[in-house]
Amino acid sequence: MTLPRLVVDLRRLRANIRELQRRSAPAEVMMIVKCDAYGHGLERVVTAAAAEGVRWFGAFDSATAVRARAAAGPDARVFAWVTMTRSEIAAAVRAGVTLGVGDADYLERIVEVNQRRPQPVHLKIDTGLHRSGIRPEQWTEVVRRAAELEAAGAIRVEGIWSHIAEVSDRDDDLARAAFRDAVQRAEALGLTPTVRHLAASAAGAARSEFRFDLVRFGAFAYGIRSVGAPPPDDIALASTLLAPVIRVDAEAVTIGIGSLDGLPSTLAGCFEVGTAAGARRVLRIGPTESVVRPWPRAAIGEEVAVWGPGARGELDATSLAELIGTVGEELLVRLSPLITREYRAGRRPGAG
Ligand SMILES: *Cc1c(COP(=O)(O)O)cnc(C)c1O
Repeated sequence: MTLPRLVVDLRRLRANIRELQRRSAPAEVMMIVKCDAYGHGLERVVTAAAAEGVRWFGAFDSATAVRARAAAGPDARVFAWVTMTRSEIAAAVRAGVTLGVGDADYLERIVEVNQRRPQPVHLKIDTGLHRSGIRPEQWTEVVRRAAELEAAGAIRVEGIWSHIAEVSDRDDDLARAAFRDAVQRAEALGLTPTVRHLAASAAGAARSEFRFDLVRFGAFAYGIRSVGAPPPDDIALASTLLAPVIRVDAEAVTIGIGSLDGLPSTLAGCFEVGTAAGARRVLRIGPTESVVRPWPRAAIGEEVAVWGPGARGELDATSLAELIGTVGEELLVRLSPLITREYRAGRRPGAG
């Protein structure tokens, strides 16, 4: 091996998903697969999740949604929530993607593009993040318009949703109250949403009153824990980033991974990789190579773990992220798409 590779343990991924399904029931799990399934590779992740009975996939944009649709099979539902251009809407509608709608103009655009059948939409209420979503003071007007469009057969308001910060319980509680209020107002105006969803990983795993009908799990499904918190019980990192030893000197071991591969150069000097002899500090990070403190009998071609579940003393992705003030998923999505993704199904060693 002379190139770095990301090894995805599909058995671990599936065990994480099963654990999240168990906790969330009777609410369903939506598996978030934006950013090429958090860098893990969309198709394999979707297939693995579908095999665990996941019916909902969250894709962010049109292109990802269309790919997820193809991988997930005809019975699955794919949800995309970024505001799209006309051609993106057309592609998503054609593929049977459910659209998240956070503003009134976007609703009209969807109706113009979709001329055939009621397009399933989930209306998004802004519950305090102020990033996107229909503002509470506009909610009644947009809901009235949506009810009109539904009566005309242009759309079907299947869901109502929002996104919360999951940083403070107090803020989340206020957001939840605003969410429930929006659902009640929509129902009073004649909508009959059956898919209400609010929480992502942290609130969804920990707080049952945030689950409603569906929980949107990204990070935890991949075993990426929240910053400053331990992983939930029975959840573990599903990926290991391996880098090859390419040079061995008395003073240093050089490994074939660097900032161009997506390893943040700001990590230099502040973390340790997992080696055959345990944890060893990374001293420098160059564009394509990095320098590690040596260990006995280090040999060209052996691999070190840059992050992983900890078997060789390596840190998990969130621990690396914490060192540079970011979140674990950031490290995964920054990883170069040129790095090979390999999959372990766990049935036999080395099985793809
Ligand atoms: C990314 C994302 C999620 C998943 O968040 P995690 O914390 O990774 O579980 C859920 N909902 C929306 C709208 C997102 O953008």
